[in-house]
Amino acid sequence: MLAIRNIAELLVVPPGPVQGSSMRTLERICDAALLVDGERIAWFGSESSLVTPPECECLDAGRGCVLPGLIDCHTHAVFASTREGEFVQRLEGKSYAEIAEAGGGIRNSVEAVRASTCQQLVDHTLPRLERMLRGGVTTVEIKSGYGLSVEAELKMLQAVKELKALQPLELVGTYLAAHTTPREFADRPDAYLDTVLDDTVLARIRDEGLAEFCDVFCERTAFDIEQSRRVMSAAARFGMAPKLHADQIRQMGATRLAGEVGAISADHLETVDEGGIAALKAAGTVAVLLPGCSFFLGVGQAPARRIIDADLPVAVATDYNPGSSMVESLPLVMSIACTQMKMTPAEVVVAATANAAAALGRQDRLGAIEVGMQADLLVLDVPSHERWLYEVGRNCVRTVLKAGKVVGNAQI
Ligand SMILES: [Zn+2]
Repeated sequence: MLAIRNIAELLVVPPGPVQGSSMRTLERICDAALLVDGERIAWFGSESSLVTPPECECLDAGRGCVLPGLIDCHTHAVFASTREGEFVQRLEGKSYAEIAEAGGGIRNSVEAVRASTCQQLVDHTLPRLERMLRGGVTTVEIKSGYGLSVEAELKMLQAVKELKALQPLELVGTYLAAHTTPREFADRPDAYLDTVLDDTVLARIRDEGLAEFCDVFCERTAFDIEQSRRVMSAAARFGMAPKLHADQIRQMGATRLAGEVGAISADHLETVDEGGIAALKAAGTVAVLLPGCSFFLGVGQAPARRIIDADLPVAVATDYNPGSSMVESLPLVMSIACTQMKMTPAEVVVAATANAAAALGRQDRLGAIEVGMQADLLVLDVPSHERWLYEVGRNCVRTVLKAGKVVGNAQI
């Protein structure tokens, strides 16, 4: 047993998905304590009612805030080269879509991934995950999508699988071969999809446990509605639940498609319309917002308030990638969600814990403070979650626990 004592604020995040208005009414226990038994939360409450079991270890929270470990439910964290040249081009006036149409963008990352070995991809990614852990992230979803050939896509997913054994974060693989059409299939997107959706490829992903989800970039520069539907239905036959990059740049009905196919999440939503919001609501799809991406690109944010007011469960993630969101800090992105999308700190914490768990189908085990939940926990060096997100960009995480074990500690 482990007792976490001397907690100024224990944020009792309920299991996801937490809908709309419920996101902002979080219970908090002041002067709290929490007991961990093995990998799970065994008890929590006010410190005065704590009965310390015999032979119990003690962790002093130092009057800090305790809350569930963060879950980054949308990243492209496996990549082999950075793209600061495009960053400068955009600052000089080119749009993300213009750069993509001129052969840059995702295709730049593809060249570098294809030229890398699986081991090199692992080596590039490991320090990123170590930094994410120090910022309070305990679970990360990682997409393929910079290989754009069967071999290179599988290499990316294999790198994610190998990284699972090398560090404490829980990693979730997503097959995003439908990120864009590679050069060799220019103007023949359907022929490209024939290769990456071949039954033998999808069966291998399933049999080797390489991906739980399948994602599509449904956008003018990538795949249209019909092609996106085809990708999701092919992957679903092999047990991969659908996700969608939807309504990022141009409104083309992608969010409605996400609702139609019952996607587990629809991600981006910068240009979502009322029909799209209604479709997600009807399907119980989690709306994953990526405020770090709009911040990085200097474009408008998704309408978080409208989506929350429609009573949808909203998650927030980094979209960490070298092109459109070179932002690996989820706490920074959470502060951006506050200042740029006008989400409250409580809403943002729920969005990056319980609702992010729901976007990854892990709400029964992760992202909440409840007896029996996995003890993925953060101890902050500040007394409240408001103070944490108010201190924009400073790492306020003192201690990280993953499944009941201390895996990151600022004091060590
Ligand atoms: Zn993305």
